[in-house]
Amino acid sequence: MADASFDAVIIGGGKEGLVMGCYLGLNGMTVGLFEQGNELGGAACTAPVPTAGFLGNPHAEIMAFWMSPAYYDFNLGDKGLNFIFPEVLMSKIFPDDRCIVIYRALEWDKNSGTVLPNPTLIEKNLKELERISPRDAERTANALEKRLYNWMYAHGQIMFNPPPLPGEPDYLADLLNDPEGGFDPRYQFMTEWEVVCDLYDSPEMRSFALQWQYFNGIAADDVAPVQLATLPMPSFAGLQAFAVAEGGVHNVAHALQRAFTEQGGKFFVGADVDQVIVDNGRARGIRLADGTEIEAKKLVIDTAEIKQTISRHLRDLDMDPDIRRKVDHVTTNRSQLFWGHICFHELAQYRAASWNPDCGKARWVFLGDDDTDYLHRHYGYQMHNLRPGRWPEKVYMSELTTTQWDPSYGPPGKHVALVAEGHPPPASYLSEREWLQVRKEVGGRFINEWQKYAPNMTWDNVIGVNIPTPLDISQRNPNWVDGCMYTSNQSPSQWGKFRPIPELAQYQVPGIESFWMASGSQHCGGVGTLGFSAYNCYKRISQRLGLRKPWEEQARMF
Ligand SMILES: Cc1cc2nc3c(=O)[nH]c(=O)nc-3n(C[C@H](O)[C@H](O)[C@H](O)COP(=O)(O)OP(=O)(O)OC[C@H]3O[C@@H](n4cnc5c(N)ncnc54)[C@H](O)[C@@H]3O)c2cc1C
Repeated sequence: MADASFDAVIIGGGKEGLVMGCYLGLNGMTVGLFEQGNELGGAACTAPVPTAGFLGNPHAEIMAFWMSPAYYDFNLGDKGLNFIFPEVLMSKIFPDDRCIVIYRALEWDKNSGTVLPNPTLIEKNLKELERISPRDAERTANALEKRLYNWMYAHGQIMFNPPPLPGEPDYLADLLNDPEGGFDPRYQFMTEWEVVCDLYDSPEMRSFALQWQYFNGIAADDVAPVQLATLPMPSFAGLQAFAVAEGGVHNVAHALQRAFTEQGGKFFVGADVDQVIVDNGRARGIRLADGTEIEAKKLVIDTAEIKQTISRHLRDLDMDPDIRRKVDHVTTNRSQLFWGHICFHELAQYRAASWNPDCGKARWVFLGDDDTDYLHRHYGYQMHNLRPGRWPEKVYMSELTTTQWDPSYGPPGKHVALVAEGHPPPASYLSEREWLQVRKEVGGRFINEWQKYAPNMTWDNVIGVNIPTPLDISQRNPNWVDGCMYTSNQSPSQWGKFRPIPELAQYQVPGIESFWMASGSQHCGGVGTLGFSAYNCYKRISQRLGLRKPWEEQARMF
C-alpha cells in the first residue's frame, strides 16, 4: 500500500521537473514532484553572494528562459517572472584598449512572444565590426543575407523538438544539405578552431569566438555539434538576447511553482528519490531514501542525470547490459567553470571606453587578448591541467555586472558582478585540498586581471569575493557530475539522436512503459535554462497518451 498516490510522479524539482509538472497539470492530472534539496529550482537559484547584502545567481545567470514556450503557456510574466534586456549584448575588450561592442538587435514582444531583428542595430553592429576588421564585417553581412536566419530557424526547431524519428523533419540535415543558405557540411567534423578560422579572418574575432566557446564547454580542438560550433555567429550580428531575471533567477522557479500549484500540483522538498518501482514492465511509482513509497497511476518522470537514473533509480531492473555500459561511459569532462561573484563600490572604468563608451555596459563583457595561437595551442591545455600555483600564463575572463540593470541585486550605489573563466579541470582531477588552495588563488587572479583593463578595479574597490570551483559546483547538485554544468558533455556523440546514448534518446528506457526521462542528459537539455528537455519529452508523452498540444492549439512554430 503506497503512502501517497498521484497520476504522475516527477523526480527532481529543477526547472525541467517544474516545466514538466505544469504541462502534465494542464491535462488535469494529479502530479507529485519530489525534490531532494531543501527548495525548488535546482540551478534556477539566487543566494546572498558573494556576501550579505548582495544577491547573486550562483548557477544560471544568463537568461534565455524568455524564449521558453512554458513562459507563454503558463503566463509566467503574470506570476512574477520578468526580464530586463540590456541594450548592449556583448563586448570583448582587448588589452590595447580597443574593443568590439555588439548591440542587441533582437526585439522581443512580451505578450505575443514574437522576436524581430532590428535592421538599424544590425547595421550599427556591422560598423563596429568594421572598425576592427572590415573583412569580418563583410563576411557577417554576407551571412546575414540568408545563412544566419536559416541557422536561427533550424536552431529553434532543433532545440524545441525531440530528435527526429524516421519520417519526421530533420532540420539539421536540411541546413547541411542546403547549398544556397546552409552550412558547409564539413563543419560537422571540424574542430572549433577550424570552424572559427573558416568563419572569421581577424585574430580579434577568432579570439572572441574561441574565448566564448571555452565557456560553453567547447575547447579549441574539440569537435562540437555543428549547431553549437557555430553558436557565436548570430550573436556577433546582435541576433541574440541575454536577459537579466528581475529580482533573481530564482524567480524562474517561483513562477513555475505558482503555475504548477495553481493547477493542483503538489511538491515535496527534502525528498531524495532512491528508486523507481517497476513491476511487470511498468513504472508503478517511486521509493524515497527514507522508505516512503509513492504510487504513480499513469507515469513517472525522472529529471535526474542519466547515470543516477540508470545506476540508482533503476538499479534492480533487468536491463540490457550494453545500455548500462554505455551510460557508465557518458562523458562529463567539459563545461566546468570558475563561476562566482565579486561585489564592489564603483563600476569598472574601462580604458577601452575611449574606443567605445558602451564597452562596459554589455550584459556579458569578455576580457582577453587576440593571441589565437596561444588560445588554440596552449590555453585549453594549461587551463584543463591547472594545479595550485600553476595557472595558465594568460587569463580569459568575463564579467556580468547585474546591478547595472537591476539595482535590487545590491545595496544602493553598490555593485555585484558574476565573474567567470571557462575550462578548468573536472572536480575529480584535483584533491579536495588542492581545490581549496585553487579557490584561494582564483579571486586574486581575476582582480589582478580586471584592473589591467579597468584600473579602478583594485582591492580597494572590492567589498567581497566568492568564486566557487568545479568541486564546489559538483557538491551542490548530483546533476552536475564532476562540476559539468550541462549534466554531460555536448559532444557530437552525445547530442541530438545520440543524447545521452541512442537507445535512450527518445526519453524512454526500452522495456519500461510509463517511465520517461527529462533531465539535461536528454536532447535538448543541458544547454541552459530554457526547459526544453522537459518540453520535448512532453511532446513525445503527448503523442503517446493523446494529451494536449499547446503548440498545435496556438499554431506555433514550435
Ligand atoms: C555553474 C553553472 C552555471 C550555469 N550558467 C547558466 C547560465 O548562465 N545560463 C543558463 O541558461 N544555464 C546555465 N546553467 C545550466 C542550467 O542551469 C541547467 O541547464 C539547468 O538548470 C538544468 O535544469 P534541470 O532542471 O535539468 O536541472 P537542475 O537545475 O540541476 O535540477 C535538477 C534537480 O533535481 C534534483 N535531484 C537530483 N537527483 C534527485 C533525486 N534522487 N531525488 C530528488 N531530487 C533530485 C536536484 O536536487 C535538482 O534540484 C549553469 C549551470 C551551472 C551548474
